[in-house]
Amino acid sequence: MEKKIVIDMKGIRKSYYIGTENELEVLKGIDITVYEGEFVAIVGASGSGKSTLMNIIGSLDRPTSGSYILEDVDITAAKDNQLSNIRNQKIGFVFQTYNLISKTNAIKNVEMPMLYGGVPGKQRIERAKELLKIVGMGDRMKHLPEELSGGQKQRVAIAGIIAMEPKCIVLDEPTAMLDPKGRREVMQTITQLNRDKGITVILITHHMDEAAQAQRVIVLHNGKVADDGTPAEVFSKVENMHKIGLASPQTVELCYELNKNGFDLPLSSLDPNECAQILYEELKV
Ligand code: ADP
Ligand code: MG
Repeated sequence: MEKKIVIDMKGIRKSYYIGTENELEVLKGIDITVYEGEFVAIVGASGSGKSTLMNIIGSLDRPTSGSYILEDVDITAAKDNQLSNIRNQKIGFVFQTYNLISKTNAIKNVEMPMLYGGVPGKQRIERAKELLKIVGMGDRMKHLPEELSGGQKQRVAIAGIIAMEPKCIVLDEPTAMLDPKGRREVMQTITQLNRDKGITVILITHHMDEAAQAQRVIVLHNGKVADDGTPAEVFSKVENMHKIGLASPQTVELCYELNKNGFDLPLSSLDPNECAQILYEELKV
């Protein structure tokens, strides 16, 4: 069966301060096609335009030029008053900050988008409980945000976002404020939603070990797509990553350094266990 296209962007450009001396072109012709059920990571140095791109993907903002079709809807042709509807129906957003209402418990926070979406009360509560279980928060449903860790708060936010059953979720550095445990929890939740529910995921991250967990990595540099492929393909080009101010995951960087000293290790092992096994085989006498 042919895969369905969720996001189809061609020649997307975005400038800020248009017509002033400070005019700044941030996106310089982006072509991206994302298929239903894909898990795509977007990486790039700070200021490379990741958030600008995400805001366009999520139709929070419009490109200066180019075409963008989101699930058969031509976003560039949509009127302003249609954009928020399209956004609410088709895309869920997760930001760096948790976007929870502070004096309101986890269930009520998850109910909120359904309240606006017109889901009746009893159904809302049942569904909120179910969603909190899905993100591993079944034992913290009555907790206030201040009683939760960063990773837990972010998972409650994710539960609220999937409440309206978007086909696609876009996450802009959702783990940036989290400790390693919180990061793992959130990454587990994201990969599980993608795998079990078939939700299309677009994850912006500056943690390369997180990007390595995606099926596909898109590298942004100077407002253009510098690379687009599987994590193994993209990250094995270690020198390209360095040139644009990024690094590959630590496993790949380690093998790369060892190769400079006479080893001949593959640069495609992203998993620490696999990397350890390769090193073990190489070093054992
Ligand atoms: P990233 O998320 O990769 O760090 P951004 O998309 O946030 O990059 O920013 C890219 C560039 O666009 C930066 O130079 C930033 O200052 C500029 N920029 C981002 N948003 C705006 C805005 N709303 N108005 C003007 N300039 C912006
Ligand atoms: Mg950003």
